[in-house]
Amino acid sequence: MARAEYDAIVIGAGSVGNPTAYFLAKEGVRTLVLDERPSSGQGQNKAAIGGVRATHSDPAKIHLCRRSLEIFAGWKSATGTDIGWKQGGYCFPAFDEQVEGTLRKLLPIQKGHRLNIDWLDADGIRRVVTGIATDGLRGGTFSPEDGQVSPLRASESFTHEAARHGAEYRYNETVTGLVRNDHTVGGVTTDHGEYRAPVVINAAGAHASRICALAGLDIPVLPESHEAGISAPVKEFLGPLVVDIRPGPEGRTINFYFGQDSDGQIIFCYTPKETFSGENRTSTFEFMPIVAARLINLIPRLKNLTVRRVWRGLYPMTPDGSAIVGPAPGVRGFFLGVGMCGQGFMLGPGVGESLASLVLRGRPAIDPEVFGLLSPARDFYRGKKESLK
Ligand SMILES: Cc1cc2nc3c(=O)[nH]c(=O)nc-3n(C[C@H](O)[C@H](O)[C@H](O)COP(=O)(O)OP(=O)(O)OC[C@H]3O[C@@H](n4cnc5c(N)ncnc54)[C@H](O)[C@@H]3O)c2cc1C
Repeated sequence: MARAEYDAIVIGAGSVGNPTAYFLAKEGVRTLVLDERPSSGQGQNKAAIGGVRATHSDPAKIHLCRRSLEIFAGWKSATGTDIGWKQGGYCFPAFDEQVEGTLRKLLPIQKGHRLNIDWLDADGIRRVVTGIATDGLRGGTFSPEDGQVSPLRASESFTHEAARHGAEYRYNETVTGLVRNDHTVGGVTTDHGEYRAPVVINAAGAHASRICALAGLDIPVLPESHEAGISAPVKEFLGPLVVDIRPGPEGRTINFYFGQDSDGQIIFCYTPKETFSGENRTSTFEFMPIVAARLINLIPRLKNLTVRRVWRGLYPMTPDGSAIVGPAPGVRGFFLGVGMCGQGFMLGPGVGESLASLVLRGRPAIDPEVFGLLSPARDFYRGKKESLK
């Protein structure tokens, strides 16, 4: 195939790649998006349950997810497309002193970042989470401005909008090499041909390390397999996405989380005590019995749910639990939006906007100092992992 010329190439049409392409194309950048799968959002994007919150403890996640929330919340009026945005908030209930202590300790940090989150007593939580078991309930945190979005509809709409602004998408095409001239990137090669551009953005999700290796970089993004499921729709009764951070009585889970999406379906996951490293996406026998017991224990009326399907997807993990975003060290024109861990869907629009701004204006869309916390040049083995949804 003859060489094609672009201003920027995005590798990966996923949670990060699609918003990045959208923000680039919207500003007139001739953008090519390449994905090895047959259509957009078919990597880990479609595995996400769609939780979106700014109420983290890490400043970079707070700032980027706050932008994501604004983008998701304004998407329908900006584009006319319904992506299933539901502003039901996030609720972390507490049933023991330890969980209460953990949640209360985060509040001053979160309020310091002007996040709308508060401690509610048991009655308050009962009002927010209809049908919650009250035995031992001490209260919990509630952040009403967080919410949920449909990952399937969002990736479809970002792709559509990016293409409407001129971005070109090529599917079933695997990036196999980077065109480089000394320490400057000049494009990519794929199993179909070669494409030239002075800017290449790695948004390859679980395979991001392989793309970095093509540039001689050792960037640790390690896939970890997680399961989820979704029910048939039921009448709306549950506002927030609920995160129960108690370890499960079965000894297999360290937390679980679920919400009711804008179509009325209950969507749920848990974090296993023993994590599954690697890319095995076969559903396990134990997921449904374990998660069903936890759901029914917390909200007894959920015993009447019909579960429609379960699936397993990958968290692109990093050693310190933070994403890796910014210019690749030592390779001019090469940018990374990788290592999103379990929060790539909610980080995607914020990361995409800042990557586009970095390419176009040399600075991110959020506070550069905060953005710098995600630098690809940092020591990935210092700092603690934050793994909650
Ligand atoms: C069960 C589960 C629940 C989750 N729930 C949530 C949630 O509620 N909220 C949240 O924020 N996150 C959630 N996540 C995490 C989220 O799904 C990921 O963090 C996110 O999708 C990662 O985005 P990404 O753009 O890095 O990767 P992806 O969305 O996987 O995109 C990467 C793309 O790159 C393509 N690609 C890779 N290599 C190449 C190559 N060589 N050439 C061409 N194309 C290539 C892939 O095909 C893929 O389409 C969940 C994950 C799982 C598994």
